[in-house]
Amino acid sequence: MRLLEYEAKSLLEERNILIPHANLVKLSGYGRNLQPLAFPVVVKSQVPVGGRGKVGGIKLANDPDEYRRVIDGIGALVIKGYRPKTLLVEQALDIAKEFYLSIVINRAAATIDMIAHREGGVEIESQADFATYILHNHSFSRVGESLAELYGIEDKSFILADWAEKLYHCFVDNDATLLEINPLILTKQGELVAGDCKMTLDDDAAFRHPEWDFEDKPANSNFVTLNTHGTVATIANGAGLAMATVDAVKAAGLTPANFLDIGGGATVESITKSFAQIMELDDVTAIIINIFGGIVRCDDVANAIIAAKDDFANLPRLYIRLSGTNSEQAADILISAGLSLYPDLAACIKGVSHG
Ligand code: GDP
Ligand code: MN
Repeated sequence: MRLLEYEAKSLLEERNILIPHANLVKLSGYGRNLQPLAFPVVVKSQVPVGGRGKVGGIKLANDPDEYRRVIDGIGALVIKGYRPKTLLVEQALDIAKEFYLSIVINRAAATIDMIAHREGGVEIESQADFATYILHNHSFSRVGESLAELYGIEDKSFILADWAEKLYHCFVDNDATLLEINPLILTKQGELVAGDCKMTLDDDAAFRHPEWDFEDKPANSNFVTLNTHGTVATIANGAGLAMATVDAVKAAGLTPANFLDIGGGATVESITKSFAQIMELDDVTAIIINIFGGIVRCDDVANAIIAAKDDFANLPRLYIRLSGTNSEQAADILISAGLSLYPDLAACIKGVSHG
């Protein structure tokens, strides 16, 4: 799962890695009127995608009026389909230089590698000539020297060795698969600060991290991508019903994108996670939800679908079939939310075929 910037930075802070002074603004009401830090501050949209700066998701505010305008503007801004729930407000930094630093798993070599570039910031993807250093318990001081030389800040070799060591342990202990600091900022006061942080954690390690409590949740491990260019996504409960749903889509001459058995827990969280996984598949134009309410109640599922849908600006059209306990109440709930309920799977598929 992908952590938001403020969540990743909190893991850095636990390791005494310097991050900017900050406040969080929760857009759901609480903390809306926090006392801002001393101006100027930088307001940053907390969505799980990069390139926020370029699309207006990061703005400087110099006074309280501008701060309120920026909060309202960024709070309402949808970025690549994501609406933020949280805004990060940071003390603006006096930037002298920006660098790039990340840690990845090199699966082929079975090593944990640090990757660095002497230029950081927003256009890093187009850069070539990254330096790579293998991290392990005896390499930190050498890596520190190499980084200092690469960045042209030879006096910071000890501090960078300390960063390499702390970041390595942060990466390993949190079961991360990616940790990226871009930019790593050198301030005019001569301090190194993590300006932005992107972190991905290994969903399969969730069982040993009861402390994980992030906005994103570990992926539903029952989700199987069948075709990255599939056009019809499916969500069902029970492996048999999920397979039958995929088969019916295929039999109708459509291309199923995925298999998903969400089990008995058709909750807001599990449906939100399912939608997020489906949104990763670019060609999906329809989502069939086929749920049999035996243990789960259909009205609860209907409410969960509506709540989950709220998080997504460009969700493909939903074709919903809920059958079983409280399905009449579910129909009323869906209809008042502007959705419709199909009587059976065949009707859903007919709906998809006819657009
Ligand atoms: P991204 O666009 O989503 O990667 O967001 P970043 O957090 O990396 O911010 C993009 C750019 O905004 C950075 O490279 C900086 O140039 C700029 N920026 C972010 N925070 C500050 C700050 O505190 N002060 C100044 N002057 N610029 C900032
Ligand atoms: Mn960045």
